[in-house]
Formats: sequence, C-alpha cells, structure tokens
Amino acid sequence: MSTATNTDDKTQSVLPDGWEMVIGLEVHAELATESKMFSPAANQFGGEPNTNVHPVCLGLPGTLPVVNEKAVELAAKIGLALNCTVQRCIWARKNYFYPDMPKDYQISQHDKPLNIDGSVELASGLVVNIERAHMEEDTGKSTHIGESGRIHDAGYSLVDYNRAGVPLIEIVTAPDLRSPEQAKEYVQELHDILVAIEASDGKMEEGSMRVDANVSVRPEGSSELRTRCEIKNVNSLRSLVRAIEYEAKRHVALYDAGEAPRQETRHWDEAGGRTRAGRSKENEDGYRYFPDPDLVPIDPSPEWLDGLRASLPELPHQRRTALVERGASMSAAVLAVSRNTDKLAIAAIDSGSDATKVMKHVEQNLAVEGAETLQPADFAELIRMETDGELSSTQTKQVLAEMVETGNDPASIAAAHGFEAMDTSELETMLDGIIADNAEEWQRFCEGDDKARGKLQGFFTGQIMRLTKGQADGKVVNQLLQQKSGNQ
Ligand code: ADP
Ligand code: MG
Repeated sequence: MSTATNTDDKTQSVLPDGWEMVIGLEVHAELATESKMFSPAANQFGGEPNTNVHPVCLGLPGTLPVVNEKAVELAAKIGLALNCTVQRCIWARKNYFYPDMPKDYQISQHDKPLNIDGSVELASGLVVNIERAHMEEDTGKSTHIGESGRIHDAGYSLVDYNRAGVPLIEIVTAPDLRSPEQAKEYVQELHDILVAIEASDGKMEEGSMRVDANVSVRPEGSSELRTRCEIKNVNSLRSLVRAIEYEAKRHVALYDAGEAPRQETRHWDEAGGRTRAGRSKENEDGYRYFPDPDLVPIDPSPEWLDGLRASLPELPHQRRTALVERGASMSAAVLAVSRNTDKLAIAAIDSGSDATKVMKHVEQNLAVEGAETLQPADFAELIRMETDGELSSTQTKQVLAEMVETGNDPASIAAAHGFEAMDTSELETMLDGIIADNAEEWQRFCEGDDKARGKLQGFFTGQIMRLTKGQADGKVVNQLLQQKSGNQ
C-alpha cells in the first residue's frame, strides 16, 4: 500500500471551524487458513458458487462445528502483534436472520473475546487503541438480481455459500481517530501487519479485508461521544476517506439545522458519493447473544503464547525504525516497508553504501513488481558499483531493471552490456571535442547567469550522453564542466 502521512490538521479543512470528527473502525479480515473456521471445506476465494461447502457451513441439522486450530493460532498471533492481552475466550451465538447465513446465527465471540486492550503505533507516531479483536465466521454472499442490485427492488436473489464459515477476525479500535487520513493510515498499517505475519492476505479488492467506519462529530475540544453512524460497504481506502468526510459533514449539517443524527447503519454509495440509511442499528439485546453450547472455551496456555510470540517476524514499525536508525527518512522508510524492499535497503546500507543513495534507488527504481525478490547481496553490490564509479547512474538504473527481470547478478549483467567505467580522461577528450564544435554555447555557458548555465549544462550533458550512449557518469561530466568553465 502507498505512503502514509501524518495529516492531523486536515480535519480542520474538511469540517467547519469548531467541529471535530470522532472515528472508530471495525476491520474484518479473513484468516489465511486452508479450511474454514468450523468445517473441512476449503477457504478459497473465487470458486464456482457453492462448491467450497460442507454440511457444517450449510447449517444442516445434526452437524457440529469443530474449531480450526490454525485459525485460532493466526488470530492469537494478530492479538500479539497488536499488543493485546490474549485471554481465555468463549464462543457465542449472535442470532439474526439472513438467507446467506443458514444457521440463523453466526458463531462469534461476545463478552469474552480472544484479544483485548491492544494498540498500534502508526508511522506518524499516532497510537490507536484496540478494544478487542475477536474470532468469528463469515457469512455467505447474496446477489440481488434487479436494477439497483439491492434487495428492495430485486426480482430474486442468489446465494453463494463458499464464503460461509470462512474464519474471520474482527479488529475494533477505540474511537481514537480524528480524520479520514488517520483512518486510512491505520488501515494501511493494519494491512501491513496482517500481511507481514501471514495471518491474512489483506486483499481489500477481494473482500478479505473489509472496513466499517463509525463516525460522529463533536465540538472541538469536547470529550463527549455523540451519536454515531456505522458505514458499511467501504471496500477501498479511497472510499473510506470519502465516506468518512461525507458522513461527518452530514452530521454537522444536521446539528446546525437544530436536528441530530440517529444511530444507524449506513451504506456507502460510491457512484453517488454519499451514504444512505440502512437498518437502524440493532442493539445488543436484539442479537440474543449466548454461549455456544456446541463449543468449549479456548484457554491459551502461556507456553503456547510464548511460542507464537517467538515466531512473529519483525513488524512494520520495527522495520521502519531499523531504516530510520540507518539514516533513511521516515517517508522513505514507510514506502520501503510497504513495498517489502526494506531488507534490500538494509543490506546495501550495512555493506557500506550511503543511506540517501540507497533510499533513492528504493524509492525511484524499485517501485516495480518483483523488486522484493532481489537478493539483498546483489542489490548491495550494485549500489557499491555505482558508488565506486564502476557504473554511471543511467547504467545502474538499467542494470537494476534487468536484475529485477532476470534475477541475474549485477556484475554479469554489466559485463554482458560491456558497461565499464569510463575513464575521466577519455570523457575529458570527448568533452573538448564537443566544446570545440559548440563554441558559441560554451561561451554563453562560461559567462551566463545561473539560469542560462543551467540550461546549457543540460545541453552539454545531453551531448556527451549521446556520444557515450549513456555510459558517462553524470556527476563526473558535471564536475568536468564546472572545472573547464573556470567555476571550480
Ligand atoms: P457495537 O457493539 O454497537 O458495534 P462498540 O461499542 O463495539 O459498538 O463500538 C463499535 C465501534 O464504534 C468501535 O470502533 C468504537 O470505537 C466506535 N465508536 C463508539 N462510539 C463512537 C462515537 N461516539 N463516535 C465514533 N465512533 C464510536
Ligand atoms: Mg461491533
């Protein structure tokens, strides 16, 4: 995912003076297991409808759920990665009717969820508190056949149970976010954490990570929590930002008109750029939660948790810190970590290359598919070759692109192209020839002001690059130009 920034003050630009947003997010992520939460059916996206099913996920009478151990392991790892307390937890039935949920209840966790009281630190330094992260099963998918694709004007509906029973984690933040940008930054961070620990593939476009945004507004400086609306159907970061902005403005307008929002679920309409009222929010009692009598509680042992903790890889914020400590800027570190090219950068910096130079490559030339598969030692060697003047910067870019494409090492690629460091004296001779052929430009270069010099420097550099087919080192050419014009 792309760069995250700290954009605290944007809150003011979206709402009229004196108002602030209060946002809490509920993120559902599908866990990366082979099979479903309580049945052996495959957990797979995109199969023919109703092919990844089993009597348990179809809710057939007489079937009993069996907990998927791997799902519990991944959910506990998420809890640990989010600094949660991982505790003894109880499965609960959340009762409601929907055709894509054949049991008429969803197995979830209620007053005793697996993970509670965590936190996530974002690149901007903002700490977002996590209230809980509980396990549950996904529902199936209804497709309403009609003009709007919504149930009210559908002629009929189709149900696909492939997703029914897919293991989910629901991660709930405290109402700590104050702007759409912070919400976006949090979701990006969460995505990167889930992917780093291989607990979920995090693909928003396939619905394996879904965000519900709770939004309210209040007078700036107040600590009250006013009535919130919960926006569903938000399936991209762009929609998340737009939906929150729209909803917060809607609340302010209602208060300004002497009215108040009512607590409800709303849907984001991407095409219309607005939220629309859905059902008025079910209250707790409506779900008739009770402990599921078919399932025993899960009681994670300290030893098991220690093992999981030890198995966690470095998390994004630790990886960013590792780069920043080596001299990278935070924004470059954010980019490298989210593109998974930070290990390459560290290898190059640790073998003696200049951090700024390395990060420039990471930012500008490693933004291609497959870059993360480069061998760190090869990348480090390439930067060394450039630093030692064995390759010009143009050649370095070319070699790097080919390394990504072929996986070959930089020395053999450079040799295959006949890239050799151009001798400075050889360059000087060429430059003398170019100066002689362009005497008038040269005089203007020597005597001109900064602007004229800048333009003509481009002209002379271009000439020599053409002559050397890009093999000249731009920096050396620049130095020669300065020397010869008597400027250095
Ligand atoms: P529910 O059980 O109805 O979903 P929760 O108390 O679990 O309600 O809260 C759900 C989400 O709503 C949480 O992310 C929480 O931070 C957020 N939230 C609670 N109150 C507010 C509020 N006044 N404004 C914005 N978000 C809120
Ligand atoms: Mg909730």
